[in-house]
Amino acid sequence: MKECIFCKIISKEVPSKGVYEDELVYAFHDINPVAPVHILIVPKKHIFGVQTLEPEDEPIVGHMFYVARRLGEELGLIKGEDLKGGYRLVFNVGEDAGQSVFHLHLHLIGGRKMTWPPG
Ligand code: 5GP
Repeated sequence: MKECIFCKIISKEVPSKGVYEDELVYAFHDINPVAPVHILIVPKKHIFGVQTLEPEDEPIVGHMFYVARRLGEELGLIKGEDLKGGYRLVFNVGEDAGQSVFHLHLHLIGGRKMTWPPG
């Protein structure tokens, strides 16, 4: 989509600090991190958000979670055979939840202790 900031990042029209890319997704550092690690995992297909997901998008969403699992290990957020550590995965769905970019994205946030409930 022409005016979508994440489409521009995916096409490299806008620079970003990438950490992973394949045919379905691009993952890069959030410009305004809320924790020592804050990665956005974004499908290359322009999808508005969870609120508009179609059945055909299910494999993309599953892949986003698998990429998160791999990045969680590679970035050292999950450690050792006993799977110590941790991180948080977040989809903000709609303005009331804090969604500000209307191109589907999964936040991978870690490197510090998280609190619950979120604000
Ligand atoms: P949302 O609020 O929609 O759940 O998350 C959007 C995220 O995108 C925010 O955390 C925001 O910091 C990040 N973001 C917005 N514009 C840019 C940008 O141009 N580059 C990068 N790397 N992140 C961005």
